Amino acid sequence: LSMRRIPMNKGRVFIISGPSGSGKDTLMKKVFEKAPDILFSISSITRPMRVGEAEGEKYNFISRERFEEMIANDELLEHNVFVGNYYGTPKAPVLNAVNDGKNMLIEVDVNGAYQILEKIPDAVSIFIMPPSLEILKARLTGRGTDEQSVIDKRLFEALREISCAKDYDYIVVNDDLETAANEFVSIISVDKFKTDRNLELINKILNK
Ligand code: 5GP
Repeated sequence: LSMRRIPMNKGRVFIISGPSGSGKDTLMKKVFEKAPDILFSISSITRPMRVGEAEGEKYNFISRERFEEMIANDELLEHNVFVGNYYGTPKAPVLNAVNDGKNMLIEVDVNGAYQILEKIPDAVSIFIMPPSLEILKARLTGRGTDEQSVIDKRLFEALREISCAKDYDYIVVNDDLETAANEFVSIISVDKFKTDRNLELINKILNK
């Protein structure tokens, strides 16, 4: 028991990944309605803001110069280049949350997930899956505005990410949104019963 690494009373890092077409963003919103006490890591990114996005909600929109400074200063837990732009997870908010005993959700691509797991091996990883190839294709085509070549590229990327799903601790299939959100929250809920989060209680009783 004493060999286990996670210090007691610490919060858990939950890593969420899922391809475009998995409905990850909508699912995350639902999860926060159901579990408002979990914190969300705001990524720093260099891509331009899209219509409907706001600074500081899901992302901090920063310059390339500032991003490269963050890399140089070791301010990032992980970072990656996605379609020519930088995406990264600032380290301090994650470490502060965990030290305060709070759970932190970090949404990253598969590459970012591997980087976080190297640094925080006891992070819990959850992969959001589309229910079937047919539904994935339909969701990627759904907007109806993109050319076939763009859709094909998205589908290829999605399948590449799905091929890494087997490395995650949990798979949540996003078919019915409400069901998927409940399943996701149940993974977070059960985590507090894991032995590594209850070592203090065991020690307290044994040391009396
Ligand atoms: P989008 O530009 O569509 O918002 O996001 C593109 C991809 O970047 C998505 O797969 C998303 O999960 C991923 N992503 C978002 N934030 C981060 C981050 O902080 N680090 C990494 N590695 N990927 C991120």
